[in-house]
Formats: sequence, structure tokens, C-alpha cells
Amino acid sequence: MGILDGRKGIIFGVANERSIAWAIARALHEEGAELAFTYAGEILEKRVRPLAGSIGAKIILPCDVTKDQEIERVFQTLKGEWGGLDILIHAIAYAAKEDLSQPYLQTSREGFQLALDVSAYSLTVLARQAAQLMEGRSGSIVTLTYLGSEKVIPNYNVMGVAKAALEASVRYLAHDLGPRGVRINAISAGPVKTLAAAGIAGFKEMLHYSAGRAPLRRNIDAEEVGRAALFLVSEMASAITGEVVHVDAGYNIMGM
Ligand code: NAD
Repeated sequence: MGILDGRKGIIFGVANERSIAWAIARALHEEGAELAFTYAGEILEKRVRPLAGSIGAKIILPCDVTKDQEIERVFQTLKGEWGGLDILIHAIAYAAKEDLSQPYLQTSREGFQLALDVSAYSLTVLARQAAQLMEGRSGSIVTLTYLGSEKVIPNYNVMGVAKAALEASVRYLAHDLGPRGVRINAISAGPVKTLAAAGIAGFKEMLHYSAGRAPLRRNIDAEEVGRAALFLVSEMASAITGEVVHVDAGYNIMGM
């Protein structure tokens, strides 16, 4: 018996076996959830299909979150196959490489729009679609953020601005979705070596710095984010919504 037996969830954001979304998927699957997956483009499809298949997923669909048609198709399929939805995991972020290395001051209009569209607005459009399928099912949505929204992290730049918008979106969405019994929360994860992280200049230094200064004196791993997400989507967190939960070995509390 798992605590998510009978629950149906969709995972946005698996790129490979290192993805935080994959660690979350495994944690949810181990507790009995039936999962659907999306992938962003044909190259990633080759990675995502076998992973999703390995935990018995039957619904595996393309979804570039900048394309409304692809988003609509995903939710139409879920409605047809499942008739409803309990869980949505949003683990998506993107910014142009130059915007994660040059000074924030240099961010172009195009770069700003791209980062905010993919990394922040996508949560709102996915939540709107999901809420229709979560009616009467105490649904739960979890997104992924990072401390660069609250404090300056060199090179995180426009992604920090996008994460600030994402966290504010979580609060506004919690307000809108609460009356329908749908909860939404963010996990602010410490640095984890993934494909997305590799795009940030000086990422290795971030890992070294945070491990040395976090109260637990170490970095986190993706499985720890998976377990926190499991808690947030479960009945154990039934009164928690609109929150940003830090899973960062305590790093965010430090002043010096
Ligand atoms: P990842 O590269 O494994 O995942 C990022 C995902 O975003 C990929 O699956 C990619 O396909 C998807 N994506 C990018 N553009 C997209 C688009 N247009 N449409 C649909 N999907 C798109 O890296 P990750 O580190 O697991 O990132 C997952 C989330 O966790 C991100 O929101 C990231 O900002 C956040 N996060 C990561 C860390 C870290 O250190 N790795 C720390 C805190 C928060």
C-alpha cells in the first residue's frame, strides 16, 4: 500500500536520469501514483521514453511549453485517458546561455522574454489547464525554484528574476485555486548537478560554496527533493499551499 495509491500525476521536466523531475517521479511512483510524462523535443524523447517506460508510464507526450497547442493536446489526452488529474509537477526552466554568464545588466528583451515565458509563465498556463481536471479531487501542484530569486547569485541573472516571478505566481495561483481545493507549492532546491545546472557559468563553485556554508555542511541530492515533493503532494501536506519550501541543507538561513 502506497500513500499515493490510485492517484494520477503528470511530470513536466524530465530530460534525463539526473533530472530533479525524474527523482520526483520515482518517489511518487514508489508510493503508488500512476504517472504521465512530457518531453521537450525529439532529442529528449529518446531519453524520456525509456525512463518513463521503466516505471510503467503509458502516456508520454511532446510538450514545448511555449506552444499552446502542445499544452492543450496533453490535457485533452489526460482527460480522455484518465478523466481527471491529482498531481502536476512543473520542473521546467530555460534561459539563453549568454544570459547565464554575462552581467544581468546586458540582458536583452528577447532573452528576458524567453526566460520568463518558459520558466515562469508556463506554470500559470499548466495550472489553469490542470485545475479543470482536478475539480473535486484535492489536486496538488509542485514547482521548482532556487534561492537566486531572493538573493543575488552571480551568473544566475535573468533566471533569478524568472524564479521571483515563479514564486509570486505560486502565491497568486494558490489564492485562485484554493477555493477549488487545489494546492500549489514550490520547492527551493539547493544546487544539484543536472543538464540545466550545467548551463550556469561557475556552477561547480556554487556547489563547493554552498556545501561549505550550509548548516548541514553538505549539498543535497535529487532524491531529497523527490521526498519533499512526495510530502507536498500527499495528504500529509493537506493544509499547505502557496509556500516556498527550502530543501537546501539550510543554506538559505545563513547571513554570514
Ligand atoms: P533538467 O535540465 O534536468 O530539467 C530542466 C527541464 O526543463 C528539462 O527537462 C527541459 O526539457 C525542460 N524545458 C526547457 N525548456 C522547455 C520548454 N520550452 N518546454 C518544455 N520543457 C522545457 O534540470 P533540473 O535541474 O532538473 O531542472 C528542473 C527544475 O529545477 C528547473 O526549474 C530548475 O530551475 C530547478 N532547480 C534546479 C536546481 C539545480 O541546481 N539543478 C536548483 C534549484 C531549482
